[in-house]
Amino acid sequence: MSLSQRLWLRDPIAVLADGAERGLVVSDGVIVELVGRSGPQSAYDLVFDASRHVIIPGLVNAHHHFFQTLTRAHPRAINKKLFPWLQTLYPIWGRELNRGAFRLAVRVALAELLMSGCTTTTDHLFVFPADMPDAVDIEVEEARALGMRMALTRGAIDLGFEDGGIADRRLMQDHDTVLADCERVISLYHEPQAGSFTTVALAPCAPFNVTRRMMVETAALAAKHDCRLHTHLAETEDENDYCRQQFRCTPVEYLEDCGWLSNRTWLAHGVHFNEDEMRLLGGHGVSVCHCPTSNMLLASGMCRTVELEASGVSVGLGVDGSASNDSSNMMEAVRHAMLMGKLRYGADAVTHLDALRWGTRGSAECLGRKDIGTIAEGSQADLALFLLDDLRFSGAGDPLAALVLCGAHSADRVMVAGHWRVVDGQPVDFDLARLRSMHGEAAKTFL
Ligand code: ZN
Repeated sequence: MSLSQRLWLRDPIAVLADGAERGLVVSDGVIVELVGRSGPQSAYDLVFDASRHVIIPGLVNAHHHFFQTLTRAHPRAINKKLFPWLQTLYPIWGRELNRGAFRLAVRVALAELLMSGCTTTTDHLFVFPADMPDAVDIEVEEARALGMRMALTRGAIDLGFEDGGIADRRLMQDHDTVLADCERVISLYHEPQAGSFTTVALAPCAPFNVTRRMMVETAALAAKHDCRLHTHLAETEDENDYCRQQFRCTPVEYLEDCGWLSNRTWLAHGVHFNEDEMRLLGGHGVSVCHCPTSNMLLASGMCRTVELEASGVSVGLGVDGSASNDSSNMMEAVRHAMLMGKLRYGADAVTHLDALRWGTRGSAECLGRKDIGTIAEGSQADLALFLLDDLRFSGAGDPLAALVLCGAHSADRVMVAGHWRVVDGQPVDFDLARLRSMHGEAAKTFL
């Protein structure tokens, strides 16, 4: 089909959108009509029989670390909480990470995400070994090969062990190198218009491993180029203790002091906020990416999703690092967010629809995008189509609830900007078996 032809995805089992009982029509990469009970109101050229599919917006992953696919279930790191986990892994990453392994790690994470129904992702990239100053460019090449959208979060660490931080010097870059490369990648890849495939956000790793100067100057640079800001915040009590000791304030007060409280900022985790801090964040239009799987694995705590939303904070979802998850499956993150929400707030307080909203529109809001994350006329044609044929769905009544409650984890088809990027559960024109073999081999050196 040519992109300008009008394709009717006809008669799906269900669509996560009101007024689309008989599917939707896409053309030129955009959703042009939601098809109600009386059928299409405009002409169409082609039909895709969606009668075995449940259709949701392409999932949006608002926080991740692709390189960590190389250290999943690492025998020395498992069963630790965040700081000792990081202290174990940083020297391994510092010693072993190189551009060849990094490229494979990026490819694995992207493919996993795409197959789980994710069409837009970010990667909080903060490790820059000496042989990969162009790590961001590698990510762009790999995302383009799979046809995915990416918010490139250009991260940094400029505070190592010897300065009171917990990172490995071999992964760090000096301040001037970081700022110059931020300018470079913004000029190359920051495309803020609707439908864009790459945007750039500036993303110092966390208050405990970057300098205050880095925080302040990235905020100024983001304002200058109108791009977004991202960092880890309030993930653990250890981090709060560190901020109190180092800065004599809480992580949120520190952010405010660095000029980071604005509607261009989204934060990963946001577990340990008090009521005043949540109000402050909401008042400034800050968003939070909830990372339920990682928070459970590292026992970091439970993001206060319901109170954050009530305070005016947009809540999105992220799978977080492949070594603190240890998967890159967005549908799994949706399920975990729902289960964790129910455990915290009650069975009727957080629904499958809340979790799906966080993983779609909420994450899109984190990334500052209005053109993705919803099935609506004018939105990008980014869609995830799931079958309910597996045994795990047998007997299920509500099809949208079944996706989350019965544990859907792989999409049958995924469309990005009107192009099919996954067909029959596999990325199009992509050798998964070869990638599995090469990546598995590369990861052995990290053991
Ligand atoms: Zn993270």
